[in-house]
Amino acid sequence: MFDWLIVGAGFAGSVLAERLARGSGKRVLLLDKRRHIGGNAYDHYDDEGLLVHAYGPHVFHTNSKEVFDYLSQFTAWRPYQHRVLASVDGQLVPIPINLDTINYLYNLRLTSLELEAFFAERAERIAHARTSEDVIVGKIGRELYEKFFRNYARKQWGLDPSELDASVTTHIPVRTSRDDRYFTDTYQAMPLRGYTRMFERMLDHPNIKVMLGVDFREVERSIPHDQVIYTGSIDAYFDHRYGPLPYRSLEFRFETKNAPIFQPAPVVNHPNEHPYTRVTECKYLTGQEHPKTTLVYEYPRAEGEPYYPIPRPENVVLYRKYEALAAATPGVHFIGRLATYRYYNMDQVVAQALKLYAKLTGLPRKQTTL
Ligand code: FAD
Repeated sequence: MFDWLIVGAGFAGSVLAERLARGSGKRVLLLDKRRHIGGNAYDHYDDEGLLVHAYGPHVFHTNSKEVFDYLSQFTAWRPYQHRVLASVDGQLVPIPINLDTINYLYNLRLTSLELEAFFAERAERIAHARTSEDVIVGKIGRELYEKFFRNYARKQWGLDPSELDASVTTHIPVRTSRDDRYFTDTYQAMPLRGYTRMFERMLDHPNIKVMLGVDFREVERSIPHDQVIYTGSIDAYFDHRYGPLPYRSLEFRFETKNAPIFQPAPVVNHPNEHPYTRVTECKYLTGQEHPKTTLVYEYPRAEGEPYYPIPRPENVVLYRKYEALAAATPGVHFIGRLATYRYYNMDQVVAQALKLYAKLTGLPRKQTTL
């Protein structure tokens, strides 16, 4: 008999398993249909002995001290500042767009102040930004939108930015400084021995039993349990009663090169050429020393593993119907990116799991992680 049956061993399920077992002495069964823990953050050593991220590059960054302190119990960290270049007009330039991006691209010598005026001159007046295109064109003008964003979004989403919700691009950072860091969060670091090792330590507790390669549907009736935490797809839980929630998928192609380092940055975006969107060189992220290096190419796909909820108003309406079913299902708690049909970063999911733990146990928030 388990107190909790937790579906999904990603961040949402694993943090709750750890807290309920170690923090509250509950007996937990954590199961995942994949044959590994870690969810999408899973990393492993490939045939050449290089540490790679199986589901695309995962860079940890957060402004939450609570989240960082919590995870620090299970891993040491390697300080890491992420940087991305974009291949545009035959040059590799920093993205987010900054002072150097514009000066390289147009062969100018603008100052930060002049760059503000440069953007202001080009920005189009848009009264109500409804779509992604409106947001970007309203900020930096049509030419930069065409060079950096339009084709990238078309590949990524299979939709033109004029068909995508404004929320996809509300946070597009454009800088007038020379700061070329991809993120500006207070805490930016990678788990020193990788994500999977961190999950192993998190789940190493006598009250946690982990079952891998098992779908919840196969065992829900045969394993006695009290309550459920469900981090899988919400539409699947309700047998797609109202139809499937649309997702965009990715195919990851790994390629090992016979050189210690291959490209000049951790990630190179290819907005305009090639069918893939970006190429990541894992060694920059992991800090591993090795005579070879592995690259991962991301090809957006319509079919496959569900990665990105497609941000269209009708999909939100459909999700709300499933959300109402979830609210009327006692004893089952829905959490995580698939169960709430939202894109979240890892730190946001950890924060949500800690919050749910506080709610389930009635403990004040600051006592939940000790
Ligand atoms: P998941 O990690 O997806 O875990 C859910 C688990 O549930 C899965 O392992 C699945 O197999 C299992 N499951 C589902 N249904 C069932 C079932 N019926 N039975 C059993 N098991 C089931 N975040 C960042 O902070 N930084 C990044 O750089 C970053 N990069 C990303 C890159 C890509 C390409 C993608 C797609 C996401 C990225 N993210 C990043 C987001 C990050 O992956 C998520 O925040 C995180 O995975 C969410 O954790 P989760 O537990 O909600 O979901």
